Formats: sequence, structure tokens, C-alpha cells
Amino acid sequence: MPAGLNVYEESRLEGLVLQPGRRLGPDEALPLLRPLVEAWASLPPALRPPQVVVHLDPQATPPIDRVEVHRPSGSILVMRRAIPELARGIWLHELAHVLMSGPRPTGSLDSRLIAAVEEGVADYFARVWSGPVERPGFVGGSVGWEALALPALRFDPHPLGERLDRHLADHYGASEPLLLDLIDCFRGRRGEGGIQSSPATVLDTWALGCAPEARVRVRAALQGWLPAELRGEHEAPQTVLEARP
Ligand SMILES: [Zn+2]
Repeated sequence: MPAGLNVYEESRLEGLVLQPGRRLGPDEALPLLRPLVEAWASLPPALRPPQVVVHLDPQATPPIDRVEVHRPSGSILVMRRAIPELARGIWLHELAHVLMSGPRPTGSLDSRLIAAVEEGVADYFARVWSGPVERPGFVGGSVGWEALALPALRFDPHPLGERLDRHLADHYGASEPLLLDLIDCFRGRRGEGGIQSSPATVLDTWALGCAPEARVRVRAALQGWLPAELRGEHEAPQTVLEARP
């Protein structure tokens, strides 16, 4: 990556618009971001994003806590003071976000649920390549399936994402094929969804953006993550009553 690493400081985030500030030269940038470069180099070549853009200490309201990805530009926003405490798993998680560059659904329920899936897949990505993600000191929100469909409630996709990562680990282990399918769904050109009425339908519709041969696997893996009461009838086998002669 070193040639594909672009690092800025004094950038400003206003609303969704990120204004890049001053670009750092490689001599300045590389020593600061060595853990990121090492995490990138630890990935299989096909999964290394060729371009990684980082903004150090961007001005933002609310301020950036430690590290996050700016979805519209796919760039990593990170606070310098946080860099020493960021384990490899955190960098791998952020690089997974960079990879998942396809469009997202826009409806409230759809966008929240798929944001939680994205967080879970990013954690699972880190788990497959370096083990479970440790976040000492990160303040997690409460797990809130109920906030999915209530736009007035603040929604934090991370706790549901952590739950998805654990669900995948419990049922599939650290499965590289499943991970690659999931990453591929997020790179698809289709951001399915928008008017879905239930979480189960959102997941099934979103999976239309996955490769056709991956859809059944991806749907089964995601439906298993939903609590039973949200799963709907998608997993129930159809009972066919034979007509008596
Ligand atoms: Zn994330």
C-alpha cells in the first residue's frame, strides 16, 4: 500500500462532506500509520484495498472518538492520540469497511439493519485474519433490536454487529468462504431495499446484491442472527397437507 496510502491532516467533516486538508508526505505519514500498513500487508493480496485514504484528527461535530470510516468517501478518520491503542483487529475492521464500497439501502429499517450487518462482517473479517476483535475502553451501546424500526431512537449498529460476528463464529467458525461471500455482497452494484416491512425481508432482499450462488448461504447465515421473533416464516419449512384420496 505505501504508494496507495494518502494521508491528510486538518481535514474538516461538515455534515456528510469531507474537505481534505494538507496532504502529508510519505516520510511523515508512514511512521505514524505503521500499524495500519502492517495490518494491510497481513491480508491476502486480493483483499488489500489498493488505495487507502486516511484523515488524521479531522475536525468534526460530534468529534471522532478514535477511528471510524467516512462512508461516502470510504476514507479512514482517526485521532492521532488513539493510534497507539488500536490493535491489529481494529485496523483490519476499518480496512474491511474500505473494501465494502458498494451502495447501501436507504430506508430507515433497511439502512440500520444493513449497517449492523456491515459492522458484524467487518468484525468477522478481523476475526478470520487475526482473531476476535478486542476493544478495551470502547464504550458500547446497548443491543437494541427495538431501535431498528424507530427512527426517533438513536441507533448504534455496533452491538448488533458484534452479535452477528459471534453468531457467525459459533456456527461457522472462522470461515474464509463465508467471509468472502459476505464481503462480495457489500461490493455489489445493487443496494437493495428501501420499503421492506420486516428485518427478515430486509435481509432476504439485500442478499439479492450477492452473487447468485452465495445467496442461499448468506441468507441462512444472517437469518440465524435475528432473534426468533424477528425471523418471520422464512426458515419454517412449508407444510404441505396431502389431499386424501
Ligand atoms: Zn465499523
